Amino acid sequence: MKLLWGGSPEPPHNKTLVRYRTHACPVADKFFEKNGFLRIEKPFSPTGTPIDYLQPKPLFRMITLNNVSKYYPAGFGKTYVLRNVNLTIDQGEFVSIMGPSGSGKSTLLHILGLLEEPSEGEYLFLDEPVHRLSEKKRTELHRNHIGFVFQAYHLIDELTVYENIETPLLYKGVSTSERKSRVADVLDRFGIVAKKDLFPTQLSGGQQQLVGIARALVAQPKVIFADEPTGNLHSEQAREIMELFQKLNQSDGVTIVQVTHSETNAEYGNRTVKLRDGWLEPKEAVV
Ligand code: ADP
Repeated sequence: MKLLWGGSPEPPHNKTLVRYRTHACPVADKFFEKNGFLRIEKPFSPTGTPIDYLQPKPLFRMITLNNVSKYYPAGFGKTYVLRNVNLTIDQGEFVSIMGPSGSGKSTLLHILGLLEEPSEGEYLFLDEPVHRLSEKKRTELHRNHIGFVFQAYHLIDELTVYENIETPLLYKGVSTSERKSRVADVLDRFGIVAKKDLFPTQLSGGQQQLVGIARALVAQPKVIFADEPTGNLHSEQAREIMELFQKLNQSDGVTIVQVTHSETNAEYGNRTVKLRDGWLEPKEAVV
């Protein structure tokens, strides 16, 4: 089980609670469970909550990268973009990847989103060794579990909002009636029903990104990878998108991994990892 800490001081992220005795619990007398997480809100009172409420729960590992490197040929040698990256992400986390331009963030996100392959190392997605899967299996894994949100939206200009959102369901072979109901549901949820027959070029940047996120979500992915999702938006639109991500993460249990330049955006998540010249900081141990 993992604790998402709401109190202060901020404890290390990713802390696994094995079994706290009441008096040993460092925080919280108020907590609630959501999506398999125990969220602790306040400092613990001495008389405290019974220990039974703090039983461990299974933690689902979604992503494991073991010594992943990515390089491109350069002259007689290689240019490394990622170097020996070890990273684990659990179901229900909201992780931000930060780092200077050119440090390898997009490459890492593309590898995580199965859009690129590592040159070396292994990638386990839901315990499946991605590097050993056939192209067909990888595509299946992508369609069934992954939603990708691009900075530049990547909507299809010739399709309406409705059709753009419907596309992943067509690829997945979802029936017509189910498609209708799911698209109607996300249109409603994102407050864009009135825009359904418009084309992307008739929308503002913020609206296009909402459609991009709706398209990523309609297939009910386990994880959303977002590459600077607010990079082209002004601050008010950016805030709306981040609030939406936070809600998806906290209320619907969707795992989110975003690349961002913005400290403000990173604060919506529960963990930040930093890339520098292809190295990940802090380095994680291989588990
Ligand atoms: P970031 O997202 O942090 O800005 P990227 O992952 O886009 O970084 O790129 C990291 C580095 O990898 C950059 O220096 C970029 O030029 C290089 N790179 C990316 N793709 C290729 C490629 N196909 N061939 C050679 N170098 C590449």
